[in-house]
Amino acid sequence: MHPNDPRLSSFISVDADSDFPIQNLPFGIFSTHAHPNKRVGVAIGEFVLDLAVIEAADLLRVQVNPVFNQATLNSFIALGKPVWQEARKKISELLRADHPRLRDDTALRAKALIPMHEVQMHMPMQVSGYTDFYSSREHATNVGMMFRDPANALLPNWLHLPVGYNGRASSVVVSGTEIRRPMGQVKAPTDEAPRYAACAKLDFELEMAFIVGAESALGQPIKIEHAHDFMFGMVLLNDWSARDIQQWEYVPLGPFNAKTFATSISPWVVTMDALEPFFVEGPKQEPQPLSYLQQSGAQGVDIALEVSLQPQAASQATTISRTNFKTMYWSMAQQLVHHTISGCNVNVGDVMGSGTVSGGTPDSYGSLLELSWNGQRPLQLEDGKSTRSFLEDGDEVSMRGWCQGKGYRIGFGEVKGRISPAKTS
Ligand code: CA
Repeated sequence: MHPNDPRLSSFISVDADSDFPIQNLPFGIFSTHAHPNKRVGVAIGEFVLDLAVIEAADLLRVQVNPVFNQATLNSFIALGKPVWQEARKKISELLRADHPRLRDDTALRAKALIPMHEVQMHMPMQVSGYTDFYSSREHATNVGMMFRDPANALLPNWLHLPVGYNGRASSVVVSGTEIRRPMGQVKAPTDEAPRYAACAKLDFELEMAFIVGAESALGQPIKIEHAHDFMFGMVLLNDWSARDIQQWEYVPLGPFNAKTFATSISPWVVTMDALEPFFVEGPKQEPQPLSYLQQSGAQGVDIALEVSLQPQAASQATTISRTNFKTMYWSMAQQLVHHTISGCNVNVGDVMGSGTVSGGTPDSYGSLLELSWNGQRPLQLEDGKSTRSFLEDGDEVSMRGWCQGKGYRIGFGEVKGRISPAKTS
């Protein structure tokens, strides 16, 4: 059976609302207290399958040299799409309820299957490039209405190309990493002079990202029909943003320090192959894009997304946004193709952020900037007394995402981060 077949089941019991059924099999990097070396694992239900152990037992050999006893996924990803697909097929077979090899080998199971609460997750890839797009029409419209002209909220280029900028790879961090409130230069429109201060308008941005799976050659644009051969998988991404720093610094070259201090990603990379059943038609593109951006068929992905916020003193988190990735105007293929149209090359492990995912209704916006309308409408949290316009110290932001199948879901787990106070001296 195909690894995506909804009828497949594992000998590991997996709840219907688990993010990690046998149809998912996302890749990540983990370690344990007993074995602190970082290595490749696959999530299955509440367990992690240690691929270094499986490889050493000769049950998963994708090339002559071991590729799973490594601290990043880069070497495995670099082997290319046919190898990712073959590996996923073999892992699916090993975990099947009707496949005895691992199921009936008690000693190997004890070594290779580790309860998820015992593992520490790490950055899945070494990231050499991070690019952030701006592909939600609703988000771009909201920001344009707030800061420019409500009647002409979208700038003239927006419907013709996927707007983006080159971010910082060095500060892409894994979920759970503490996020320090940035210091920076701020100047409100009414201030006479800029000040050096802690960011007072700290925000999150709900995004997805795709991970580049193959390097392209400098000077060789990727054609739209080949774009998916260059994508390994997807993660949740929180593009932390300092709105007050951004407002003063961004003219004329775009975001700089407002975005460079941290970008968090979820630790499990869900493969494009696992997502394949959830591709759907994206929004109609009018005007028709230039020919190098034209594509046919389903290019959006139906991924339900949620953001929750929990102040340090609160006993519970409040879900503050629910939206869906399928609303994105520009597809991932169009983003990648446009990125390389100049001849710019991409590398294995590069992170391509989608841009903030905002829906059409106020409860589906993907940032506090929009949810509180730049502080004009503070959000009420579920403890009944707290409100938020922007993030406060101690706040934890968590994002989740999943594709809902019939009786199972292909989930991304979680990306979370807690705000720590600014380092003022
Ligand atoms: Ca962003």
